[in-house]
Amino acid sequence: MYGRRMTTAGAGADLACLAVLRHCTCFSKLTQIHATILKFGLHNNGVILTKFTAVSSDLGAIDYACSFLFSPNSDLHCHDTFLFNTVIKAYADTPHLKRTGVCYYRKMLRHGGGGADPNNYTYPFVFKACAGIGDLKLGQSVHASAMKLGFHFHAHVANSMIHTYCSCEGGIGYARKVFDEMPELNVVSWSTMIGGYVKSSMSSDAIKLFRSFQIHGERPDEATMAMVLSACADLGALELGRWVEAYMVRENLPMESEIVYNAMIDMFAKCGDVDKALKLFRKMPPGKRTVVAWTCAISGMALHGRGLEAVSLFEEMKGAGVVPDDVVFIGLLSACSHSGLVKEGWRYFDSMVTEHGIEPRVEHYGCMVDMLSRAGFVEEALKFIDKMPMAPSPVIWRSLVSACRSRGQLALGERVSKNLIVQDPMEESNYVLLSSVYAKSQDWAKKTRAREAMGKKRVQKIPGSTMIELAGDIHEFVAGDKCHAEYPKIYEMADEMETKIRAAGYVASASEVMLDIDREDKEGALHRHSERLAMAFALLKTPPGSTIRLMKNLRVCDDCHSATKIISVVYRREILVRDRSRFHHFKNGLCSCKDFW
Ligand code: ZN
Ligand code: ZN
Repeated sequence: MYGRRMTTAGAGADLACLAVLRHCTCFSKLTQIHATILKFGLHNNGVILTKFTAVSSDLGAIDYACSFLFSPNSDLHCHDTFLFNTVIKAYADTPHLKRTGVCYYRKMLRHGGGGADPNNYTYPFVFKACAGIGDLKLGQSVHASAMKLGFHFHAHVANSMIHTYCSCEGGIGYARKVFDEMPELNVVSWSTMIGGYVKSSMSSDAIKLFRSFQIHGERPDEATMAMVLSACADLGALELGRWVEAYMVRENLPMESEIVYNAMIDMFAKCGDVDKALKLFRKMPPGKRTVVAWTCAISGMALHGRGLEAVSLFEEMKGAGVVPDDVVFIGLLSACSHSGLVKEGWRYFDSMVTEHGIEPRVEHYGCMVDMLSRAGFVEEALKFIDKMPMAPSPVIWRSLVSACRSRGQLALGERVSKNLIVQDPMEESNYVLLSSVYAKSQDWAKKTRAREAMGKKRVQKIPGSTMIELAGDIHEFVAGDKCHAEYPKIYEMADEMETKIRAAGYVASASEVMLDIDREDKEGALHRHSERLAMAFALLKTPPGSTIRLMKNLRVCDDCHSATKIISVVYRREILVRDRSRFHHFKNGLCSCKDFW
């Protein structure tokens, strides 16, 4: 009789408890419910425990739930698959606690057999945690255990596995292997793999895969198209980007979705047609213009050195009631930096804290140092670095050295770049900086020693390369390149260019020549620089008067910059060069950067 009464009371209590849990919105209520669970002996009720865990997770208190669920004297018999999945999902969704999610997955495996075996819902959560951690070995070990239990062929599981591999350094090859072995590819698999290539800066592979996807006959969704557009943006492939736009119209794919629209604006800005980007932005229904869309437009302006327009867009954004975030400030401050708007830059930087309550990150400080350095305020830049609340990044120091070099503060430049080499002896650009400081001070012996030191340490050099898109194909050139099928003609053209621009008054800049003179291969000569070869190729292959668009992976060198200005006059061409940090628009002997980059 006593027992029966308990059961009845328990049955009522569990329903009541579930109802209270459903309306629980704060931690203090959660602790009260916890007490109720213990009081009515509901700690063995799987449904209640799972709900309790889910609510705890929503309240950011998953640790609290787990300390109760997995305490040494808790009864693990009611811990079923569903409960474990809830716990793993909660940790996978919590930054900094993703590893704990994987620990619970391991606990689940050890506990297995008691109704708590992993199922196909478990793995996407575990892999999400692994992707967040970005540890390739960990991903591989979970992959192996999914395989052992036969879940790796499940489309959901395999897709999350691809995502994990794409999120780990060096994992892209493994991702592709999983992708190739799937029998059941769906649109998510394709998008994830294409996105993986984009994230790994393998945008040509992303485009190639997209072409196979089309042949495969499946309909891409918004996420796929956004990825393809960002691959085009990365490659600076305007023709390809335009083709994607036309393709979307032809296939009646929804362009008005926010992610596609933003990706389209970003693509046009990064591929050199910033006016089209702006036009698209203006066509966007004002209600859809989130801070991301404004950021694409403002950063696009920054990239093209149209600082004043970036500033007025920012003011317009605030006027429209859109609240700025930290990312839009990076675009805005870099616009101020690239256009020499020092006063405005200071004002906006200060307003981050005073008006918007946004704590500047190291990237924002970086924009400010870059701005001061470019404008030649070396002392101010140094003072600013001294006051930074965090350790300055190498990028910040490099901006300062560039400023020292161009303002003749060579002793400081030498000291800072030597420090950079101590911090990161395997980074090529640190040696290049130091040797460029020596070149400026015409100290050739020290410069040669700096180059030799780099050689001794076997620092890997990143070769400068320039890409050009022609009739849907991407051609890539490196300095002294002889890989191209038509290289004899290209070299001939490069020589002709050199003769013509010299006749028009071009003089190779001394310090840059000296930088090259100690390279053994004479192919490294200036007029064999990758952008010169790409320009020669473009002049051979494109109709007279058409715009030439180039993409350079590093910063344009001083010498190619002045040569390109003269080429734009001699050959009557507009030349657009996207380098590592901005666009240069060469026209009639001038560059849009006003020689300030
Ligand atoms: Zn060059
Ligand atoms: Zn320029």
